[in-house]
Amino acid sequence: MSGTGIVEEFRSLKRASDADLLTMQCGDFFEFFEADAEAVGELLGLKVSMRSGGGSEYPMAGVPVAQIDEYLSQLVARGQRVAVAEQFTDDAGDHYRRITRTATPGTLLEVGERHTRPIGVLTQREGRYGVAVVDVVEGTAGVAAVADLAAAGGQLRQQQVGELLVGPTVSAPDAAAVCPSDTVCVEEQPAEAFETHRGRKRLAERFGEAIVETRSIDDPAAVAAVGAAIWYVEAMDPELLRAVTRLRVLGRGDRMQVDATTARNLELFETMYGASEGSLLATIDGCVTGGGRRLLRRWIGRPSGAASVIETRQAEVTDLIEVPLVRRRLRDALAETYDLGSLAARLASGRITPADMGRLRRTLAQLPTIGELLTTGALADAAVAETTAAVPMDRLAAVREELEGALVAEPPRSLQEGGVFAGGYDAELDAMLEELEAIETWFEQLAEREQAATGLRHLSTGRNQTDGLYIQVGRSEAARVPDGYEEVKTLKSAKRYRTAEITERERALVRLETDRVLREETLYAQLLETLRPAVPAIQEAAAALARVDVVATAARHAAKHDWVCPTVQTEWGIAIEGGRHPVVEQTTRFVPNDTRFDDTRRCILVTGPNMGGKSTYMRQTALIVLLAQMGWYVPADAATVGIVDGIFTRVGALDELAEGRSTFMIEMAELANILHQATDRSLVVLDEVGRGTATYDGVAIAWATMEHLSGEREGTPTPAVLFATHYHELTEVADRMEGVANVHVEVEDAGDTVAFLRTVAPGAADRSYGVHVAELAGVPAPVVDRASTILGQLRDETAIQVGGGQDPGTQVVFDVGGGTLREAHDGTEGNPQEAALHEAIAALDVTSMTPGELVLAVEQIQTRFIEPDA
Ligand code: ADP
Repeated sequence: MSGTGIVEEFRSLKRASDADLLTMQCGDFFEFFEADAEAVGELLGLKVSMRSGGGSEYPMAGVPVAQIDEYLSQLVARGQRVAVAEQFTDDAGDHYRRITRTATPGTLLEVGERHTRPIGVLTQREGRYGVAVVDVVEGTAGVAAVADLAAAGGQLRQQQVGELLVGPTVSAPDAAAVCPSDTVCVEEQPAEAFETHRGRKRLAERFGEAIVETRSIDDPAAVAAVGAAIWYVEAMDPELLRAVTRLRVLGRGDRMQVDATTARNLELFETMYGASEGSLLATIDGCVTGGGRRLLRRWIGRPSGAASVIETRQAEVTDLIEVPLVRRRLRDALAETYDLGSLAARLASGRITPADMGRLRRTLAQLPTIGELLTTGALADAAVAETTAAVPMDRLAAVREELEGALVAEPPRSLQEGGVFAGGYDAELDAMLEELEAIETWFEQLAEREQAATGLRHLSTGRNQTDGLYIQVGRSEAARVPDGYEEVKTLKSAKRYRTAEITERERALVRLETDRVLREETLYAQLLETLRPAVPAIQEAAAALARVDVVATAARHAAKHDWVCPTVQTEWGIAIEGGRHPVVEQTTRFVPNDTRFDDTRRCILVTGPNMGGKSTYMRQTALIVLLAQMGWYVPADAATVGIVDGIFTRVGALDELAEGRSTFMIEMAELANILHQATDRSLVVLDEVGRGTATYDGVAIAWATMEHLSGEREGTPTPAVLFATHYHELTEVADRMEGVANVHVEVEDAGDTVAFLRTVAPGAADRSYGVHVAELAGVPAPVVDRASTILGQLRDETAIQVGGGQDPGTQVVFDVGGGTLREAHDGTEGNPQEAALHEAIAALDVTSMTPGELVLAVEQIQTRFIEPDA
């Protein structure tokens, strides 16, 4: 086909697709053309060349067929959806191309480090929001109907969707506001995708009427959402839909709520600086399988709220703690496995390569070992065996046997390479191979035979594309070739010939080679069909392996770092002894600290100098609760955790200014969110609330927030609250409030430096620690002395000036006894001297005084109130 013909074909395919980019197979390459070639060149640094055809020039960039998935993966990671048009041959032997799939974050079966992420759908019907989540690697479609957009966003975040589809009454911007920030693309889809009656039909077709009924999926919003999800997967990759075998209802299980802000503030997946190293995930992720890593991520993002679930996981971890050798062997066996979830999805979609089949075989071969390790010896009656009990081992053993019988030891990367099947698998193929071999042997020995028969010394044989099989004879001997040699080509120093026998054998060879490819294709298709029904069983095994990996990782981490099994309970209250921060303890000699919440301590006010360890202490408490509800052991000497329904945090973040939003506005928006959402069963962590404003409204907000959350006001929920503040006045208020406790981080005078003890002790921080620290740091004595004096005065007067810069005349007075805060513009509360001055000036009746009288009065005031040398 001519160059322009190809470009025409590219354009027409591109028009038919709504993907961002299109790639087209041309023989052994996938090519991008025109603007797409330039885009790919820019995104991936791929070489773009100019081609010409039909009088015009066009840019083109290509990648080898075998590597297309790796390139797709990089493009998808950069937010591109890429349509893939594969090449086919029609009956007349002409090539044509058809879009067979579109690679998106949720449909591309990742090969490397990245992983396929779930597809999310959000829609609205009859006042409710429908959410659906499809995970092709897990093989599940999840669905839920919720009352509002925020709840829908919560579901989508918990499921960590990688792409989100919306419509017809939910717009992309609406959805973008609530979906996870790292969702690669948010797309509006056509209205018909969301039609409820079609959705119901798609559901029934996919999962069967009975399943849909037993799961009671009847809310129109939910049906519309899951219907659209099925529609989408089918539109992107019809074959891949076969991987989706299970239907579940989202949000039925009890979960702890961890919103995006909290995930960021607690550095669950990445640090505040955006690095993955130093996050909780990176610290505790010792998983050896891709599936394990995915599951761990999910456990961190969605800790459980159900004691039974947590206790089951704990029991499994405990089992594996006690058997380090078994654990090691398990991990070794797991490390030999490949990502079964991905392999299952590839098998389901038919896009499984012979090499993948080899990986599947190898992974299945590990199952008996893993199963045995989990059910014998020390683990004979262990809880962890339950995990594998659901795996249909016999079924999988049959799959493995099938693969063992079918495949060669190292199956090739693609079917086209040939040589997929082992001898003895198919008699027909074996016969062909035998014949092929006979011809090959005949040909290998041909040169020797001909040399002997003809006496020609410079005689050799060869094969290539244009000349086929040939005999080559050096020019010097060309005159002596026998009669039967028919010349086919003349080279500079040699001539090529064929004989009748060669021609005949070659015909047989070519026929056999074609037949062999066809036979392998047929056999491969048959093998696929035989194995496909095992997809759900493989998915089951994938889930079990992931679980075993995470549990073994938890056990290993706990054993290595002396973590303990927390007691989880449904009653409210938290008691942590010797708690540590799971990440900081890795790199620092950590000073353990206690945390206790009970009915007399619902709100803990944390004070102390900067760098004293306040945030670390609060985060460590939150992380211990989170780990406990993941079913993991925790970094502490002992811990009891009353299950919380969510962790809410407000911690000053670094990136807020960079985002160009007012820090204070964000701070308040986050605070608002917490005050709306936190319940009696939540854990709230507030670091320096109110600091974002330079005026005294900061302390007012902090004060009011503390009151609100600690139950001072009737009818407000009273979560467990950790509250760090530099508003010292609050500690005095706190002393008088029931259920509020003061703690502080200790600082020690260590000669000429300040030592941060990082010990959290009862009571509020000493108010003068700042001055003390200044002294230790070498601030000159006169300044320190003066600071102490000022501090003393301020303390006596119980008045401080908050903020400053903007309105130096404004004072705030804390009337601690009455729990009030008021402005002191007239200065009467603060300073009796000033009050008298005020009074004296106010007493002057200026209008009735002569200028002389006025001068006299001012003079009197001066002598009375202002020192002579001033
Ligand atoms: P603050 O919030 O009071 O300013 P941070 O919590 O940020 O202080 O802690 C300051 C530094 O002290 C951090 O580098 C942290 O790693 C370290 N740190 C905090 N708590 C401890 C502890 N208990 N043991 C050892 N180091 C700690």
